[in-house]
Amino acid sequence: MTVRAALTEGKARLSHALDRAAGSPALDAELFLASVLGVERSRLIILDGEMETEAITRYRDCLARREAGEPAAYILGRREFRALPFTVSPAVLIPRPDTETLVEAALDVLAAREQRRRAAGDRPETPRVLDLCTGSGAVIISLKHERPDIAAYASDIAPEALSVARENERRLLGAGAVRFLQSDLFAGFPGEAREGFALIAANPPYVESARIPRLQREILWEPRAALDGGADGLALIRRIIAEAPSWLDGEGSLLLEADSAQMPGIRALLAERGFFRVQTYRDLAGRERVIAGGIKQ
Ligand code: GLN
Repeated sequence: MTVRAALTEGKARLSHALDRAAGSPALDAELFLASVLGVERSRLIILDGEMETEAITRYRDCLARREAGEPAAYILGRREFRALPFTVSPAVLIPRPDTETLVEAALDVLAAREQRRRAAGDRPETPRVLDLCTGSGAVIISLKHERPDIAAYASDIAPEALSVARENERRLLGAGAVRFLQSDLFAGFPGEAREGFALIAANPPYVESARIPRLQREILWEPRAALDGGADGLALIRRIIAEAPSWLDGEGSLLLEADSAQMPGIRALLAERGFFRVQTYRDLAGRERVIAGGIKQ
């Protein structure tokens, strides 16, 4: 079978098997084939030779897994996020394009902080940035990649997720670039870290429990603990908003990813805990996806 015939077969099989909502059959087929052949996807069109039997078998195995509903990112073991290739496994949520909004918001809040400090004549600093519920590490690793001057910290409750995040850190930044901590939110943080963070960012689980079975079937392959935010989706967000102020420094900010429908409720929670300068950031679809608040007026 030629590369071209393999692509045609893959696209046809996946178009047949997948819901429209669940991504692109053509893209998935190309990614599987490129991965099996060990080439960049952009090089596929110039390959027209016969494939080895072993490569055909491996490619068809990818197609079969995808037909059964497994997300392409788990089959490939990779997902791009802010142009970096992250390793993913079923121990972590697959990084979403929506979450790039969280990274952009963090960059924005850090730049505004710097501007305020400069205007006030404060000395330059190394801002400490914490990513709670880090999962694959996509948020903190891309932040540190784009702002190497930050001191990067990340935590997750799941040791299996942290080992994926550490692997990404080693491969994409080099060991030691991020300090990882296994902890149920702040419960396992050393007391010395109190009032230490310039910015705390989190993409916690925020899906309402009852909605989970009704989502795309791909979601059922992902760790439920990374998605399930309890009855109203705000169980973790409520705890983070209550606990974060004592871990933020005097002018620190908290940034949370959530669903746009949850924003009014989160605004109220932030106001209740005395956060100021609350603002939201929109995702690529134009929906409010991230909310930020600072503890200084
Ligand atoms: N945006 C994700 C989804 O709807 C939810 C991620 C999360 O709960 N943190 O699939």
